[in-house]
Amino acid sequence: MAQAKTTLLPLMVGMTPWGVQQQKDALCLQAALTRGARAGVCLAHRHENANPFGLYQLKSVSDSWGCGLPVLNLPKPLFRKKIKVLARVKAIEGRKQIKLDHDAKYGRGSAAMCNRSLLSWHFEPREHESEVKLWHRMVVNSVHREAVLRAKFGLLPFIKATVFKWGSQLAKFSEAGAARLMACGCGHAFGASGALLDLPQDVTHVLEECKFSEGWRLSVFEEIRTCVLEHAGRLRIPVWDSWSVAKRMEFLFTAHLEGTFGRECESRMKSILAKHLAYLFLNLGNWYGGNVPVRQLEVNQECLRAGQVVDRACFVEVV
Ligand SMILES: [Zn+2]
Repeated sequence: MAQAKTTLLPLMVGMTPWGVQQQKDALCLQAALTRGARAGVCLAHRHENANPFGLYQLKSVSDSWGCGLPVLNLPKPLFRKKIKVLARVKAIEGRKQIKLDHDAKYGRGSAAMCNRSLLSWHFEPREHESEVKLWHRMVVNSVHREAVLRAKFGLLPFIKATVFKWGSQLAKFSEAGAARLMACGCGHAFGASGALLDLPQDVTHVLEECKFSEGWRLSVFEEIRTCVLEHAGRLRIPVWDSWSVAKRMEFLFTAHLEGTFGRECESRMKSILAKHLAYLFLNLGNWYGGNVPVRQLEVNQECLRAGQVVDRACFVEVV
């Protein structure tokens, strides 16, 4: 079962990164204890074994937040205001440190579409707004909406990038060996240094390049073109036609109505993509269902010499 790259969740749902929330809670606790100690009524202070600082090195947390005794000693309403502002600053810092990288052996990253459609407000979210909420407004059908989010997170079952991901199956393969294993084999290849290489069967490939999904892609773009014609007018058609497949996908997957085709038309365009993505998920098993984990790949005995020890680094040469 494919799993989402959880580090990206704060960006999608607009939540405070978990580490920041923990530190904020710890500081609130410290402030409560400071106030309680001053008033002599804090239960925790009466218990000689109480160790409120056990989970966190509160000194280093309060130092990094610039939240020393003068702040901790503030009256409760003032402290709450102060900590809210500090938590917001820390949350923005935390979001900017979220890692978007991936292991290149598995292609261009499962969350490639998510990364490509990130906007500046993902890192500095406005109050009460998140990408998930925006998709809620743009795509009414919940099944279609789920398909969009699953595609953005790269949760495509059956494809090689997903099948090989678990258990670090490609970790022991050389770069070239991993590339051969990841090759889609649909016939879509690109030229590099004069040689044609099969493209890796990752999320980007399935959505934008794969021959198996070409019919699906054409039907998406055809329906969207009709939508542009009906709701944005004939003059906007050349804009849509001039865009590459990658630019079209990037535009459709971005949770933003920018006005190139008019907000209403763009909302419809994204709904159309969402509907077709739901169909795509139904077809993935037919197109990519034959992929199996590395341990189930059979070694072609004719490729082995008698007594040869199979080196995992070149295993791919003989499967
Ligand atoms: Zn392919």
